[in-house]
Amino acid sequence: MDKPHLLGLTQEECQHLISELGLPTFTAKQILDWVYQKKVSDFESMSNLSKANREKLQATIDSSFYKSLQLFPSKDGLAIKYVFELTEGQKVESVVLKEKTYTTLCVSSQAGCPVDCKFCLTGVVGFKRNLHTHEIVGQIFQAMQDGHQISHLVFMGMGEPLLNYDNVMKAIDILQAPYGFNISKRKITVSTSGYIAGIKRLIETDRKLNLAFSVGNANPAKRPAIMPIENRNPITEVAKLLNTYQTKHNRKLTLEYTLLEGKNDEPEDIRDLIALAKYLRAKINLINLNPHPKIPFKPVPTKVLHKIKSWIEDARVPVTVRYKKGQDISAACGQLGESYL
Ligand code: SF4
Repeated sequence: MDKPHLLGLTQEECQHLISELGLPTFTAKQILDWVYQKKVSDFESMSNLSKANREKLQATIDSSFYKSLQLFPSKDGLAIKYVFELTEGQKVESVVLKEKTYTTLCVSSQAGCPVDCKFCLTGVVGFKRNLHTHEIVGQIFQAMQDGHQISHLVFMGMGEPLLNYDNVMKAIDILQAPYGFNISKRKITVSTSGYIAGIKRLIETDRKLNLAFSVGNANPAKRPAIMPIENRNPITEVAKLLNTYQTKHNRKLTLEYTLLEGKNDEPEDIRDLIALAKYLRAKINLINLNPHPKIPFKPVPTKVLHKIKSWIEDARVPVTVRYKKGQDISAACGQLGESYL
């Protein structure tokens, strides 16, 4: 049987393992302190544990989660892409994004993605597998260990987080716990392409996370050409569920809109987007496509981007433009997957 992984253990699970090993109960607290306060994950370095206990722990709990790691800092110094090679060779990317006053990590939830949004490199990669909880926590652990004070998490890396619901939610529980990295739930955003079964589960939990919904096109007739998920998860149903989530949890909702020239930039497309934002009391985040030879679309010209932004402002809907950090390293959050291609 596979060993449990250190970075995938809740406090309760850690305590349970410690008592099964016959070690003193305070050992669990010592271990979690090493991991989340001192950012040390190898038992050998946990110097306040006896040698015998360190050996017992090493034999029972796994603590390494990748075979190799590559870092790609962007020229503008504002982004660093991490490429983790997992134990069976799959590659997963995460991105540190530096803002003036805070640092965000764009986190992956799957190796590849089965959703196949046509503007997304991860969609081109196809689906490899769901990430385990420790592989999700590990992305934050690694960035923190490298000295990045991650205060915000966005699940907008590789994968549809709600298709890996249990592992993602367990990772979030560990990351926001006081024994973990203590990241505020208000600073954690989960992005979805509109997976209905996952949104229904979110409505029922008390986690109260911020949500981002990737729209593609708000018109149900035009959406499948960009986001095939529409065929089984109609946007009309998704919108009703998001509205229920908003009403119940009162969290921030952002509509992510990747602009594709000639596909979703016409006045009627933006009118539909504005209507959706008004119905959901949501902010719109415009993202101009990060072009790539494997993606069959073009970004819109900058003047079109500005025109669309002003239409949305005129309709009194809050709107931001996500400027592309680290374009030279293909670090656009939500469009990762370069390392496979
Ligand atoms: S945008 Fe998100 S859900 Fe869509 S293919 Fe890419 S990773 Fe998957």
